[in-house]
Amino acid sequence: MDTSDSARQLSFDNTAKAFNHKSNGELKETFRLFKLMSNRTLVNLGSGLGKFAASLNIGFINHIIKNTIFKQFCGGENLLDCQETIDELYANKVLTILDYGLEGKSSEADIDHIKDEIIRGAKLAASNSSVPVVVIKMSGLVDNAVLEAAKDLNTLSDEHRIAYDKLVNRVNTICQSAAELGVGVFIDAEESWLQDTIDNLAMEMMLQYNHTKCIVYNTYQMYRHDRLDYLKASFETLNKAGVFLGAKIVRGAYMDKERSRAEELGYPSPIQSTKADTDRDYNAAIAFCTERYEQIGSCCATHNLESSYLQAKLINDYNIDYNHPHINFCQLYGMSDYISFNLADEGYNVAKYVPYGPIKEVIPYLIRRAKENTSVTGEMGRELKYVTSEIKRRSL
Ligand SMILES: Cc1cc2nc3c(=O)[nH]c(=O)nc-3n(C[C@H](O)[C@H](O)[C@H](O)COP(=O)(O)OP(=O)(O)OC[C@H]3O[C@@H](n4cnc5c(N)ncnc54)[C@H](O)[C@@H]3O)c2cc1C
Repeated sequence: MDTSDSARQLSFDNTAKAFNHKSNGELKETFRLFKLMSNRTLVNLGSGLGKFAASLNIGFINHIIKNTIFKQFCGGENLLDCQETIDELYANKVLTILDYGLEGKSSEADIDHIKDEIIRGAKLAASNSSVPVVVIKMSGLVDNAVLEAAKDLNTLSDEHRIAYDKLVNRVNTICQSAAELGVGVFIDAEESWLQDTIDNLAMEMMLQYNHTKCIVYNTYQMYRHDRLDYLKASFETLNKAGVFLGAKIVRGAYMDKERSRAEELGYPSPIQSTKADTDRDYNAAIAFCTERYEQIGSCCATHNLESSYLQAKLINDYNIDYNHPHINFCQLYGMSDYISFNLADEGYNVAKYVPYGPIKEVIPYLIRRAKENTSVTGEMGRELKYVTSEIKRRSL
């Protein structure tokens, strides 16, 4: 797809804008961190040690994590802690999407705590124009075995049925509170073997809460070869019912896991054959949503420069107001600031996914961020390149 004309006037190279929110000291810390993360051996060693140390809850190690990688990628340990991050982003025209990052919990008390915390986030969002959306990760609200089994409700065991009904109840309580508060809910996409259940529930929630406003958004992973068709089919169903489709468009985070499971169990991989195929469908998906922006609320959730340019170009081509609530960009907190802050400065709707939670609970998230940044090419190369040029610009 051609992204070479008008939107090209938009530049992601303005590092003064991209790092305006960072003091000289913070910028140097960011540089040191990304430089460290480019060392694969160190990251592998640190990942193992970090998990172990966090499980022991050793004070000085928690302190080191808190002041380095946690500070770079998380908003804080609780909602109150996040306020400073929220304000700092907002001062630079970037909104916050609250993502309570607890993973792998299975006790009823822990799961209810996660549900309550998401609702607390929605209440904060309702009283705070800098926070438009909260996130649900369904695997945080029920055991994975139940998510996997519930793709066919007719074959559920009694035990799984009870757990599934509780999941529906929790998700519905969150979406209902969010709808009453006028706050958006992004439902994250997960592994393909869990996704059918997530999709079914997301559709139910959209049918229930997206009548007058786009409240609930499902996530569509374009590294799957069937997702562009599924996005279109979801639109057909909801549009016939007179309901908005909410679509967060991502490439997908579990590629290696998907491919190796498919190979191990001997079924065709759900993942596209090449990166170019993923890029093609990603760009087609944002074009599909933008073309129907009156019926679809969408979020271009990516760190990819071409797709970000393309989304900006489509907004221009369709002559859509930059701040139309149905067209949004989003990046992860601590990453791709050159995209977020330059877009925000031009007046587009931009938000950061801001994960938060107790340090030892968000370690798996931090390890994923560190691992995806170990390559000296691609994302990592770009992060370092932009931080380095801002350091040079400031003569630090
Ligand atoms: C705000 C936000 C929210 C997100 N929410 C989710 C979510 O709910 N669920 C989820 O799964 N992910 C989510 N992600 C992560 C996302 O799916 C990607 O893993 C990540 O953003 C990297 O892709 P990219 O579009 O930024 O850029 P790029 O760096 O251009 O793309 C990398 C991605 O391309 C795909 N890819 C790479 N190589 C190949 C190949 N050989 N063949 C086919 N495809 C390939 C993979 O998906 C890989 O992650 C989110 C990301 C953001 C920014």
